Amino acid sequence: MSGLIAERIAKIRRQLPPQVRLMAVTKQVTVEAIREAYAAGVRDFGESRIQEAQAKLVHLQDLPDIKWHLIGHLQGNKAKKGLELFQWVHSCDSLKLALRLDRLAAEMSLQPQICLQVKIIPDPDKYGWTVPELLADLAKLDQCDTIKIRGLMTILPLGLSQDESLAVFEGTRELALAIKQQNWSNIKMEELSMGMSADYHLAVQAGATMVRLGHVIFGERST
Ligand SMILES: *Cc1c(COP(=O)(O)O)cnc(C)c1O
Repeated sequence: MSGLIAERIAKIRRQLPPQVRLMAVTKQVTVEAIREAYAAGVRDFGESRIQEAQAKLVHLQDLPDIKWHLIGHLQGNKAKKGLELFQWVHSCDSLKLALRLDRLAAEMSLQPQICLQVKIIPDPDKYGWTVPELLADLAKLDQCDTIKIRGLMTILPLGLSQDESLAVFEGTRELALAIKQQNWSNIKMEELSMGMSADYHLAVQAGATMVRLGHVIFGERST
């Protein structure tokens, strides 16, 4: 093994404030590379797809202290499998999915950690709540008392300038603060899942608590 992955992780860690959680995004990444990141101290791993995650997880059962984070859209019919595999769902993107996860989690005696995926500026290519939609759904979301709603997740629209990108991340932080000030019973707003390889410096500047990093750790993906 080259040690390249460990080197990249060490370099990123030196740049991140200590309280920011580093998630290694392992879509299209081999089990061997995941083990190298684990050996370098990473314990939070992100996958976008249920099937791909399931295929890898069976080979990683000997690493019990890993947290798996789902970061891609979850279809309703895969929600149960999603809860079996993942401790965190960052891509909770509709009231319908939240209600389903809450019901399934109760049946399965699980308490998954949830982020609500928001679009601070409209982005038809992505899943998630727009700001007015999310504000309108909060009262119903607050009735979900099995899932643990921990904060917000956002993905930047394509093609933004640095200033626009920073504005989206800051808008996400401000939205979380506004929701927090409404003092809901079950909705907590302590986590901001934002920032990918290309933009994580800006996300951290805006207050990200979790960054989701793929190619800056593992190299370019093939597709
Ligand atoms: C793929 C992916 C990432 C990581 O992307 P990189 O640009 O490789 O860092 C982060 N978040 C989500 C939602 C993703 O799908």
